[in-house]
Amino acid sequence: MVLIVNGNDYAYELEKLTSSFYKEEAVKVIINGAMKDGTEPSSEMLSELPSVEIKTESNLDFTKITAIFKGADLTEIVETEEGSFIPCSLASSPDSLELHCAQLLFKVLCKATSTTPGFGLLTGIRPSKLLIRLMEEKGENEGVDYFKNCFFVSDKKTRLTLDVARAEESIMKSSTPDSFSLYISIPFCPSRCSYCSFVSSAVDTVTAKKAFGPYFENLLKEVEYTGELAKKAGIKMRSAYVGGGTPSTLSAEQIEKLLKTIRDSFDMSSCEEFTFEAGRPDTITRDKLEACFNASVDRISINPQTMSDEVLKLVGRKHTAQLCVDAYNMAREVGFKNINMDLIAGLPGDTLEGFKDSLMKVIALGPESITVHALAYKRSSDLDYSSGLFSESRNISAMVDFANDALYDASYIPYYMYRQAKSVGNLENVGWCKPGFESKYNIFMMEECHTILACGAGAVTKLKQPNGSNITRIFNFKYPFEYNDKFEEQINRKKAVLDFYG
Ligand code: SF4
Repeated sequence: MVLIVNGNDYAYELEKLTSSFYKEEAVKVIINGAMKDGTEPSSEMLSELPSVEIKTESNLDFTKITAIFKGADLTEIVETEEGSFIPCSLASSPDSLELHCAQLLFKVLCKATSTTPGFGLLTGIRPSKLLIRLMEEKGENEGVDYFKNCFFVSDKKTRLTLDVARAEESIMKSSTPDSFSLYISIPFCPSRCSYCSFVSSAVDTVTAKKAFGPYFENLLKEVEYTGELAKKAGIKMRSAYVGGGTPSTLSAEQIEKLLKTIRDSFDMSSCEEFTFEAGRPDTITRDKLEACFNASVDRISINPQTMSDEVLKLVGRKHTAQLCVDAYNMAREVGFKNINMDLIAGLPGDTLEGFKDSLMKVIALGPESITVHALAYKRSSDLDYSSGLFSESRNISAMVDFANDALYDASYIPYYMYRQAKSVGNLENVGWCKPGFESKYNIFMMEECHTILACGAGAVTKLKQPNGSNITRIFNFKYPFEYNDKFEEQINRKKAVLDFYG
């Protein structure tokens, strides 16, 4: 796909929008006759199809924007919107002209690809953040109208975003300048799922076996040290999250030791939510659940991803749907009253009917929250996109739409939402919950409400300016072996927490 931009500086945004329609290919961009690196485009590229051109021409009175799409079959897919005149007063605001260019490009691409993304021309990660800002600036009604009409967001996605914004609001407001949340990373899993792009290692590999023991000991040291830093900085813990990977890859004794270290290192009297992402059902046992429950973990995740045994096998998860139900029932018996379950729309080998069946089975179990992700195409995963096992993006879109309707019908509310750049069809990942079970950590983290202190390989500490919006990041080493080898350096980096809080 070739994007040609002439007469304006909006190539970056227009490229993002074009890429959202052409996920599986790199968009080549020609700006005012040159490639992004300043070189001249080749003659082949100039004649490559499909291509789309956005051209702006201004005189004293008007700016004219033209969008021209050229495809392989010119008679079918050429769309020209010549004569889209915009009054000078409107176009004189750079934002307006950019918005009009994006609107025209969106209309042409919808026609050319026969798709209409529900989030319109929004390409950002957090639509609810934009909506909250618009409502603050313009008032609720006008803000919602602007969101819907200027960005071409569908009625359903507008309602979804508005509900998320409302659910987030009170939790976001409860965050104070001295709040922080804790994240602990366990980047090990029983086996690697084919769709995974995370740096998690399967525990049975030689490298993982070697790294696992030292990693656990170093992690405990980092937790202790981070606890000292939090106390010195005078900040208060609001939520804690042990995630991965699959934290339940640890033995019951290790879980007990890790949770005790967290409790001993931090003042948890102000912590309102403590989540342990048990994750894969093939790692969950009663003694591990009891270790979590006895350490005051009050929210756990048990993630089926799909309730089809066939799809589970295809994506490399070594458990059955029944094992997931058993783990869920066991967690209830142990006493957990807040359980989340994750599902993914668009897994290889899954169908719309299969996805509907999975969702209805999970709803029937009655967990307090259900998170529905749309599959993201990432090169760092092991997925074979040429396998012919993938659903078309419109099918995945239908899965997500079905989930949204079914979850509303089952009285779940959407409380947090984000979109991944590579998600198929530009779809959303949404956390749904029974009212009152909104995960605070997910909202604090997603909306960047306050500092996140993070421990373990691949974890990123985000220091949020107490009365501002700037964020300073401290990156931990990505892989467990690196984290072990450079542990002292890792700890030294963390000292920046105290510098930050003065
Ligand atoms: S369980 Fe999660 S983190 Fe582990 S391999 Fe599968 S998708 Fe990746």
